[in-house]
Amino acid sequence: MPSQQAPCPVCGDLLAVSLYDATFRMPDSSELLCFAVPGRLCARCSQLLVEPDLIEALNLGDGRCVFAIASDTTLAEHASS
Ligand SMILES: [Zn+2]
Repeated sequence: MPSQQAPCPVCGDLLAVSLYDATFRMPDSSELLCFAVPGRLCARCSQLLVEPDLIEALNLGDGRCVFAIASDTTLAEHASS
């Protein structure tokens, strides 16, 4: 999977490429939790960008990311302690 840095399409800030635990709000206003989703987060927009292939695989459809936190940060903390 290519992991090159690309700027946020909205604000131009650099995106943080990582694994994220994310909550998506679906069009029927239910919420879908996804763990360890590879994506690119813009800290300024609080928007998680996920590959279209993955959106399809997770069945996100028109779901919109409402919360995302890097999931490998906690793993790294556990590993180093
Ligand atoms: Zn942005």
